[in-house]
Amino acid sequence: MQYVSTRGGMAPSNFSDVLLEGLAPDGGLVVPVEIPTVDAATIESWRELTYPQLATEVIGLYWTDIPREDLAELCQAAYGDQFNADDVVPLTPIDQMAALVDLSQGPTLAFKDMAMQFLGEALPYVLKQRDQTLNILGATSGDTGSAAEYAFRSKPNIGVFMLSPKGRMSQFQRAQMYTLTDDNIHNIVIDGVFDDAQNLVKELNGDLDFKAKHSLGTVNSINLGRLIAQSVYYFWAWLRVTTGIPADQREGFSVSFAVPSGNFGNVFSGQLARQMGLPIDTLVLATNENNVLDEFFRSGKYEPRSAANTLATSSPSMDISKASNLERFIYLVLGQDAQALAQAWEQLDSNGTLDLSEHQPRFQQEFGMVSGTSTHEDRVATIRATYEKSKVVIDPHTADGVTVARGYQKPNQPMLVLETAKPEKFTDIVNEALGFEPELLPEYAKLLELGQHTVELGTEAQALREYIALHYV
Ligand SMILES: *Cc1c(COP(=O)(O)O)cnc(C)c1O
Repeated sequence: MQYVSTRGGMAPSNFSDVLLEGLAPDGGLVVPVEIPTVDAATIESWRELTYPQLATEVIGLYWTDIPREDLAELCQAAYGDQFNADDVVPLTPIDQMAALVDLSQGPTLAFKDMAMQFLGEALPYVLKQRDQTLNILGATSGDTGSAAEYAFRSKPNIGVFMLSPKGRMSQFQRAQMYTLTDDNIHNIVIDGVFDDAQNLVKELNGDLDFKAKHSLGTVNSINLGRLIAQSVYYFWAWLRVTTGIPADQREGFSVSFAVPSGNFGNVFSGQLARQMGLPIDTLVLATNENNVLDEFFRSGKYEPRSAANTLATSSPSMDISKASNLERFIYLVLGQDAQALAQAWEQLDSNGTLDLSEHQPRFQQEFGMVSGTSTHEDRVATIRATYEKSKVVIDPHTADGVTVARGYQKPNQPMLVLETAKPEKFTDIVNEALGFEPELLPEYAKLLELGQHTVELGTEAQALREYIALHYV
């Protein structure tokens, strides 16, 4: 299997090469030359597999330049005992025809662990083979940074330099990240806001000499390895749901998924699974008040917003104004024509908007994609209604998914809502909805007592350069 850029400016490369890359060299995103397909009998033959075994099968369709035994070992290590549930991704019914797909059993209690734990095994493997090192430089306002730190802690050939804005993260998020004591994890607290941290990352990445000398890189949301690792749980969830129906009705049995969305990574993984042949009827994309993606799916017009026009909501991990993975979907809409995509992006860059309204009917007809917006009031009402009906406490991101899913449920068709975080991480809104706070598991409560290890720096790039020069691997 070979990989190219959505904009056409990259020689076909294999998976191990693109795993280490963020953007393609021409500024586009990496995509498979052709999306692999699996037939119904093959999917059926995966029914009894454990999660790591299923991951080996699905990822193995994409990562073809690795011995199968090695991939199986990486998947076993990634989806082993770091997850709180033995079966890694349990399903929880919330009514007769709807269930949560629990992607938040990993060490940071959010779905980013599903992909990051895989990279935590896959990247050291590739680096070792190539005798290379990688120093991950990132900025975080919460979930991504902690998922990366837990995935790469104490991993060989890897350093993690994670910038976070001073005083802007929740007590739980700080405890989770800052209590790590691994030598290769560097929590750098920036005396500024998230954008200041982000700008420092950009500045150092723009300094090509410094970047090369210190092997700087990223594991951001456009990394192809993350998207492919995320496709696995769509297969897993379909296999679990169809286990409950008679064997002769399973083949081609359609289910729908609802996906709380931000950068369009999770739902794009679902689109990949659908194109691979998994019987997905509809992919319901849920946004919060930052609904640039809902606008796109309804009108066909994509108009990214500025950071200043991005609202701070009670489902903060979905507060985006520009969906970095949307380019991959538009590439599919344009028939995998890199030249057409490159032109579309020139139009977007010069006009600030991209008009694909002539293709809009195809989003649902051909790609099964629909969308909706959920607000703070919706989240509160949905957290309450879900608790009253099923005694399950959900987090605000999942609540956005449930809210929007309710508008698209079809009779006799399961609706699977991806549970992207645990409510313990977002106690304020849960308290508002239910009048009590979800209790932390003891091992997480303990973190709040431990000492924290951070380095504080200002917003000047020079101090950060000096720190990295002293500590990189
Ligand atoms: C990252 C995140 C999302 C959004 O996922 P995308 O892949 O960016 O669309 C939703 N919910 C939670 C809790 C997240 O951390």
